Amino acid sequence: MYNAKAYSAASATSPLASDTIPRRDPTEHDVQIEILFCGICHSDLHSVRNEWSDFMSTTYPIVPGHEIVGRVTKVGSAVTKYKPGDAVGVGCMVDSDGTCPHCKDGLEQFCQNMILTYNSPDKHKTAPVTYGGYSDSVVVNERFVLRVPENLDLAGVAPLLCAGITTYSPLRHWGVTKGKKVGVVGLGGLGHMGVKLAHAFGAHVVVFTTSPDKTEDALRLGADEVVVSRNADEMQKHAGSFDFILDTVSAKHDINAYLNLLTRDGNITLVGAPEKPLDVAAFSLIMARRSLSGSSIGGIAETQEMLDFCGQHNITADVEVIPIQKVNEAYDRLLKSDVKYRFVIDMASLKSE
Ligand code: NAP
Ligand code: ZN
Repeated sequence: MYNAKAYSAASATSPLASDTIPRRDPTEHDVQIEILFCGICHSDLHSVRNEWSDFMSTTYPIVPGHEIVGRVTKVGSAVTKYKPGDAVGVGCMVDSDGTCPHCKDGLEQFCQNMILTYNSPDKHKTAPVTYGGYSDSVVVNERFVLRVPENLDLAGVAPLLCAGITTYSPLRHWGVTKGKKVGVVGLGGLGHMGVKLAHAFGAHVVVFTTSPDKTEDALRLGADEVVVSRNADEMQKHAGSFDFILDTVSAKHDINAYLNLLTRDGNITLVGAPEKPLDVAAFSLIMARRSLSGSSIGGIAETQEMLDFCGQHNITADVEVIPIQKVNEAYDRLLKSDVKYRFVIDMASLKSE
C-alpha cells in the first residue's frame, strides 16, 4: 500500500479539499497510472452531494472522478496489454465479475458485480470504497484500462472516458446514421460530445438548449439547427419529426415536450440522471408507438472502439482546464449550466498540496 494525493469531500455539504488516500501496490494484473488529467462529470457533483441516495448512497470521504487520463508507471507481472510510459485512460468502472451474461456480451456496465471507479465497495480492502481520479495516481486491473490514441490532446481526451462513451453507445445502439434526424437535449459535457459524435455519424443534428448564448457554439460543434427549448413556438415547429433524441439534462424537466417531437416509432434515450423522477404522460408515448429508454456509459470494448473512432476523426472534448484548487468553483458553475463544455483538472496542480 502507498499514499496518494487526492481531493475528497467529507460530507454531502463539505467542499472538496486536499487529502491523502491509500492505494494498493499493483497486483499481477494491475496497472499503476500517474493521472495527468481528470474531467469533472455532473455525476461527480450528484455523488458528492448524495443526490442519488435513493439509488446508491455515498460513503464519505468520497474521492470523485471517472474521466481519467495518464501514463502507465508500473505494471504487474501478468499484464500483457500495457507497459510503462503508455498513454491510457480509465472511465467509470474498474472491475466486474467477467463471467455473467452481461460481461460475456461486453456490457460490463450492467454486471451485478461491477465496481465503479469511486464509491463502490473496494474488494481489495485498501479502503472501504474505491477512490476516483481527483488524485495523482490510481491502480486498475488491466481489463479496465483503455488505450488512448497518441494523436489526441490528453486534456481533451479525458472527458471521452465518460461523456464520450455515454453518448457514443446510445447513438450507435439506436442506429444514428446519415439520413436520421437526431436531437440532443442540454449542451453541457455529455451534450456537446453527443453533438460532435452524431454529426460525425452523418445525422442531421438539432440541439435543444435553455441557454440562448450557446447557439453559436452549438453550430460550431456540429449542430445543423439550434432550438431554445423555452420557446414553445420553436419547439412546435419540430413536432413529430425526430427519429431519435438523446436527453442529457441533469435536472428535472418536462420530458413530454420532447416525446411529442418524436416521429412514429421514434425513441428518446435518457442519459441524464436527475435527482427527482420525471413525469411521463401516457399519451405522449401511445399515439405514435414512441419509446423512452435509458442508457448507462458503455462496455469496455465499445469504449475502446469510441476512443479509436475519436482518434481517427480527431474528436476531443472542448475543455476548460483548471487547477484542482478551483474544483469547488467549477461545481458551482456546473449548477448554473456555465460550462464550455467540460472542466478538466490538470493534476500537476495537486503537486503543490
Ligand atoms: P452538465 O455538463 O452540467 O450539462 C447538463 C446540461 O443540462 C446543462 O449544461 C444545461 O444545458 C442542461 N440543464 C441543466 N439544468 C437544466 C434544467 N433545469 N432544465 C433544462 N436543462 C438543464 O452535465 P453532464 O456532465 O453533461 O451530465 C448530464 C447528466 O448526465 C447528469 O445528470 C449526469 O449525472 C448524467 N450522466 C449519466 C451517465 C450515464 O451513464 N447515463 C453518464 C454520465 C453522466 P443547456 O444550457 O444547453 O440547457
Ligand atoms: Zn460521468
